[in-house]
Amino acid sequence: AIEIRDLHKSFGTNEVLKGLNLTIEGGEVVCVVGPSGSGKSTLLRSVNLLEAPTSGRIRIEGVDILDPEVDVDRIRTRIGMVFQQFNLFPHMDVLRNLTIAQERVLGRSREEARRVALAMLERVGLSDKATAHPGHLSGGQQQRVAIARSLAMNPDMMLFDEPTSALDPELVGEVLAVMRDLAADGMTMMVVTHEMGFAREVGSRLIFMDGGVIVEDGDPREVLAHPSHPRTQAFFSKVL
Ligand code: ATP
Ligand code: MG
Repeated sequence: AIEIRDLHKSFGTNEVLKGLNLTIEGGEVVCVVGPSGSGKSTLLRSVNLLEAPTSGRIRIEGVDILDPEVDVDRIRTRIGMVFQQFNLFPHMDVLRNLTIAQERVLGRSREEARRVALAMLERVGLSDKATAHPGHLSGGQQQRVAIARSLAMNPDMMLFDEPTSALDPELVGEVLAVMRDLAADGMTMMVVTHEMGFAREVGSRLIFMDGGVIVEDGDPREVLAHPSHPRTQAFFSKVL
């Protein structure tokens, strides 16, 4: 489980997370929606230690990941993160994109890393692209490579920050399909998304954030059909 308690984050005088509480059990698929600037990315980035929270606690399987003694690289390998921008290494082929961190961070042999990489490429339907360079792939293919690269590190949990927002509409479905398979396999996931269909059908929970706190948290169908908070209602009336 991941337990977030009274999480605060300020950038200068701008308090972005204002005492956020959230517990996620293994296997949950938590979709996160909310207006621009509500702190969604900051929340995910805090869980992945890309931001240092101002105060509060984050525990993963009981381990306090904000403890200064904690091995940040170790935590990051356990939590995969996929961004709107795919962040692949442009000068390396797909296979090398998938093996480099396995070798350097996990200390896997070249052969082992290659074996895992090929298995992950198969999982995202890109076995035939191992020797391609990212620049020669479509956006949807690049994002599937980015997901495969995260999965190759054998994470306990995957964070997705608007993974389809930079894609042409016709490429969104192939990425969501990979995420849907991942969810069906039992991966614990946090997904910031505007894809309400995905949230409804794949999400086990839907969270609405506004102003640095969680305003609403529940079964996606329930939240979408009957948002209880006026701010949630106002938001859905704009996006749905
Ligand atoms: P969006 O839907 O636009 O992605 P968001 O909910 O992900 O929004 P965040 O990116 O978490 O929102 O940003 C929340 C607030 O924090 C914004 O006001 C933003 O300007 C500010 N912020 C985020 N990162 C930084 C930073 N590195 N330095 C200063 N301010 C930041
Ligand atoms: Mg964001």
